[in-house]
Order: sequence, then structure tokens, then C-alpha cells
Amino acid sequence: MELIIHAKEEIIDLYNKFEPEQIDKGNNNDETALLVMNKLEKKATEIKFKPSHYNLTKEKNGIYIIYNTLYGGLIILEKDEYDYLVSGIYNEKLSQLSDALIHNYFWVTLSNDEKGVYEFVRKNLSDGNTKMLNLVVTPTMRCNARCFYCYEQGVEYSDMSYECADQLLEFIDTFEGVREIRINWFGGEPLLKSDIIDYISEKINTRNIIYRSFLTTNGVLLHDDILNKAINIWKLENVQITLDGTEEEYKKRKNYIETISSPYQVVLENIDKLLFNQIHVQIRMNVDENNIISIIELTNKLYQKYHNSDYIRIYPGFLTRKENSSNRIIESQDKGQIVELLLSEVEKRNFFGAVNSLYSFPKVNACMFDEPNSLAIDSDGRVYQCEHYLGRENKKISDIWTYNLNDNNGEMPVESLSTECKECTLLPKCMGGCHAHREEKNDPCFIERYFVEAMMNLLLNSKAIRDGQ
Ligand code: SF4
Ligand code: SF4
Repeated sequence: MELIIHAKEEIIDLYNKFEPEQIDKGNNNDETALLVMNKLEKKATEIKFKPSHYNLTKEKNGIYIIYNTLYGGLIILEKDEYDYLVSGIYNEKLSQLSDALIHNYFWVTLSNDEKGVYEFVRKNLSDGNTKMLNLVVTPTMRCNARCFYCYEQGVEYSDMSYECADQLLEFIDTFEGVREIRINWFGGEPLLKSDIIDYISEKINTRNIIYRSFLTTNGVLLHDDILNKAINIWKLENVQITLDGTEEEYKKRKNYIETISSPYQVVLENIDKLLFNQIHVQIRMNVDENNIISIIELTNKLYQKYHNSDYIRIYPGFLTRKENSSNRIIESQDKGQIVELLLSEVEKRNFFGAVNSLYSFPKVNACMFDEPNSLAIDSDGRVYQCEHYLGRENKKISDIWTYNLNDNNGEMPVESLSTECKECTLLPKCMGGCHAHREEKNDPCFIERYFVEAMMNLLLNSKAIRDGQ
């Protein structure tokens, strides 16, 4: 047995707060089991537990790795130890193993309502968040890069007017009690309408409110004057840039309106400038059937160049299937292998944020779709629950002239999720995944799923190598 990560104290504390209601419903056997858990009393001859529903298990050559997605413990077991875990029958002779299983919640009591515990944990981890307003705003739906896969294809390419910007400021003011606002400037390519970003940011800066911003951009237009404004006026903290391969592949995918001799090099230089100014950069690499080799090469290049920086993170994104589109997508069964391949290319896996996904807290919300005070607003002032729908009239929930707080469904309980997600072992890491993808019959599972599974496989492989298997 090798206990690699302990269960999170914070979640155990929450469990203990939830527990009393559940004990009353339990049978005697459970109560004895709880005595063992709490007092380590080892007199009972047969005490039964059940393996946690949230134990995610992988096996290779008789070695088992188990990660509990709710409590966060990770353990490696030999076959006989794993059989013991599955049996659930406490054996006092195996005290070290039993203690590890009990105290890290790989074993839970028979009457444990684990989904109820997760719901309770979600409620308690959520801070109600009504003091923070998260907006995704598109100053323009136009874009200079014209990528073939852009999901905003087919939407109207309009710019935000100053009248609309003024209304947006009034809309922000209607969220009483908000102390902090975060805007993700999105597009289109938001830097094509940087004057609107200046205008809105300057006005927000005069308000008694904390303001920070994020930017989702292709990175070509981040000239020095823009960067100066971004730092001083837009309060920019984080930038997401897409690179879908090394220079050759990049050229095939982007079709810039501007005549720039090497947009790829321009983007790399701009990434350097952002990092120099301590602005976080996330590089999204969209993987499809045609660019896997190039993405691996890019991963290596970025790793060589930036692995000492604390401000950069890279991650794979997967294109989705769309009507009338030539996107050649990766099927969900292959995504895990691709993520594993990419992770195995770099020594420091947190360059991908992959290690974080093993240590992160259970998710309170899936994404902005079910987060309170999180909304997306397009250049015409339409309001959506999700950035994926920007520019689509039939998906709007309101507009910034008529919005009222009840227009947003907000938080969704576990019960409202699909049966597949409700029963999924990974639910605490994902909270039901992407609603928009599910609606469009694409894979809803978040990248965390593939990170967790890939990290487990890599740990299993390195254990097998250490053991000479
Ligand atoms: S529903 Fe999907 S596309 Fe929309 S915000 Fe959530 S993760 Fe993003
Ligand atoms: S979206 Fe995928 S990983 Fe997430 S809960 Fe549903 S099935 Fe599980």
C-alpha cells in the first residue's frame, strides 16, 4: 500500500458536519463502523463498510490506483489489498491498511448518502458569491483571424456601440451589493474594438468597486500601447491565447486579415511581453485529428522556453462537432490517450495544470452556466447564460435593457443533472460538464476528467516501472 495523497481535511470536516443526520438513519452495523472510524475501537468481529462511490480505480498488471474524487485521497494497492477494499469487511489484523481506507474515505459506512454529502459540500464551499459579478463581454463579434473552426461562424459580425456600452454600465450598476467585477473581454477578437474596452474600463474605474479583467485573444494585436492600457486601465490579469501547433500548422489554420509576415512569431513575442509584466497567460491548444504531431512539438517548445515561469499554463482543447462544419474532431474515447501523451512529454506536469486537478476542491458549479452572477453579453447587448451562445438571438435569456435577476437560472442541484452525470464517479471534479456541448451532442466532459485519468495512468506506469514490471 502506498498512500500518495491524503483526503482533504476541509472536506472531512464538512462530512463530519453532515454526518449526524445520516447516523440516525443508519443501522447498528453502521454505527459500529462509525465507532471504528471515530475512535478506532477494534473489538467488533465483523464490521462492514462499502467502497466509496467516488473511488475512481485504474489497474495495470495487478496494481491498482484509486483516487477519491470527493475527498481527494489517492492510494496505490496490490491485488489482495484491493480485494480487501472491495470486500468492505474490516479485519483488525490489517490495521494499517484499514486505517488508510477509513480515514481517507475510500471506505464509507453502509448508509452513507454520498451524493447527499457532495451536495452538502457544494453548498458549504459556495460563498453565495453575490458580491462578485463575472461578465464575459464581446466588444465586437468581428475577428481578424478567421479560423475555420470558430464557433461564432454564422453569427452577425457587429461592433458594440457607445450607447450599448453606456447601457452596459447601467446594467452593472443594477447588481446592488457587488464589490468586485471581473470582465472577460471576448469576441470575435476583442482587440479590434479596444476603444470600447477603454471606455467601459475607464468608467468602471471611477466606481467604488474592485475591477479586474481577462482577455481571450489570438494575441496578434497586443501592441505596446494596447499592453500599457491593458495594465493601467483594463486591470488585465489573465490572457488566453490559442496556438494550434507550431508555425507551419498555425499558418494553415489562421487566415489573418492584416498582412503580417509571421503572426506566429508576433504572438510568441507578445506572450513574452505579457509574462514580463506578470500577466498570467493560458495557452489553449486545440487538438483535432490533423495536428496531434504539431501539438506535441509545440508542447515541447513551450516547455523548453517557459517551464520556469509561474505565469504560464498550457492545456489542450478539443474541437466539437457542428452542423455544416468540416471540423475533424477527436472522439471522447481517444481524448484520454492524447492528454496522457502530451503530459508524458513534459517533466513538470503542472505546466498543464494537470497536477492541480488531483488536488483541487470538489466543484461547486460546473461553469458560468450555473454560477450566480455570471453572464455573457454580446456586442448588441443580448444576455446569455453561457459564452458559447454569444451572438445567437434564439439562445439569449434577456438583454441589458430589460434584464432582471430572475432571468438567470443560476445554480443547479445535482438532482437536475443527467443520469449519466449523477452516477459518474468523476462528478465532484466536473459537476455535470458543459451544457452547451451536451445540447449539441458533443462530449460534455471537462478537461479535468482527462487530466485526472491521465495522471492516474502515468502514476500507475511509473509505479510499474519502479517495480520492474
Ligand atoms: S456551458 Fe460549456 S461553453 Fe458554456 S460556459 Fe459552460 S463550459 Fe463554457
Ligand atoms: S460531464 Fe462527463 S465527467 Fe462530468 S459528470 Fe458528466 S459524465 Fe462525468
